[in-house]
Amino acid sequence: MAIYNGSPELLIVMGSGATLEQTEHVVARLEEAGAQARVSEGREATVIGAIGERERLAALPIEGYPGVEQVLPILKPYKLVARELNPDPTVITISGRRIGDAYFGLVAGPCTVEYREQTLETARAVAAAGATMLRGGAFKPRTSPYTFQGLGLEALDILREAREETGLPIVTELMDPRHVEEVVEAADAIQIGARNMQNFLLLAEVGRADKPVLLKRGPSASVEELLMAAEYVAKEGNDRIILCERGIKTFETSTRYTLDLGSVAVLKEETHLPVIVDPSHAAGRRQLVLPLARAAAAVGADGIIVEVHPRPEEALCDGPQQLPAAEFMAFADEIRSVATLMGRQIG
Ligand code: PEP
Ligand code: MN
Repeated sequence: MAIYNGSPELLIVMGSGATLEQTEHVVARLEEAGAQARVSEGREATVIGAIGERERLAALPIEGYPGVEQVLPILKPYKLVARELNPDPTVITISGRRIGDAYFGLVAGPCTVEYREQTLETARAVAAAGATMLRGGAFKPRTSPYTFQGLGLEALDILREAREETGLPIVTELMDPRHVEEVVEAADAIQIGARNMQNFLLLAEVGRADKPVLLKRGPSASVEELLMAAEYVAKEGNDRIILCERGIKTFETSTRYTLDLGSVAVLKEETHLPVIVDPSHAAGRRQLVLPLARAAAAVGADGIIVEVHPRPEEALCDGPQQLPAAEFMAFADEIRSVATLMGRQIG
């Protein structure tokens, strides 16, 4: 029998014979009571997630509505991104390309958009190797204010040109809410960098945008904090979110960050959102990028994001970890074979 403990966040499981009208009826009653309702059509059952005010939800006789099988509280602090709400993995479509479930995302490109030819050369190489999406920073979060900060808005035009030529969707980082319009307009997916993972105003901005979000884990953030950051985005209405493990700070200094592949396995249990891995920033040097990328695919990640440059020795940022564009085809082939072993195809 159904239980209801007065939680302001509920999972309403519809019975296997429930009709669309019955689901719509429940949603309508929830919305009348001021709650947000999200329907997910799972393979097993239709589940409605409801978030609202405790008293108003408690006053609804949800258990008695036709078609309702069970009403359960969502016990996790994250709700919309929780696996409980949506037991099937979410596939995110980015301008026709897919990441999640059967689709492994191979995202590649320069750390930073430096100049037109550098970005176009890289874009051609990663497109030829079958990449899913092109990455490239226009606004760069640099540790030192004296280093190259990115071309800014000018880089967005170069990225647009790269997309036009190669057909690859573009992901680029948004650092400042003042640039939200330009970045959302230019990019196919918006990256929130590790340092901004808990910039809650920025998270809310991209939560209101109609573009997928690539949310990177902060170097000192727990898995739960990453999921709560994703919840900030989802709460505003945008649940097209891809999470990214990119290494955390530990006592270990032999790599730039410590790639926490355990977090990927945990995230796959906790959330329906796709999870990708950035081996480049974690490793800090290119020799380690392939082994870490292979391990990411093997642990069950839904993709990787790697840095590639035509001449890494000349790169203005992160040269030591960028893969030479000429070697990317061989790299992609290696990753494709591990992804295939895991039952996935490049999205
Ligand atoms: C990046 O991917 O361009 C980047 C700056 O990474 P992170 O935010 O993970 O440091
Ligand atoms: Mn970089």
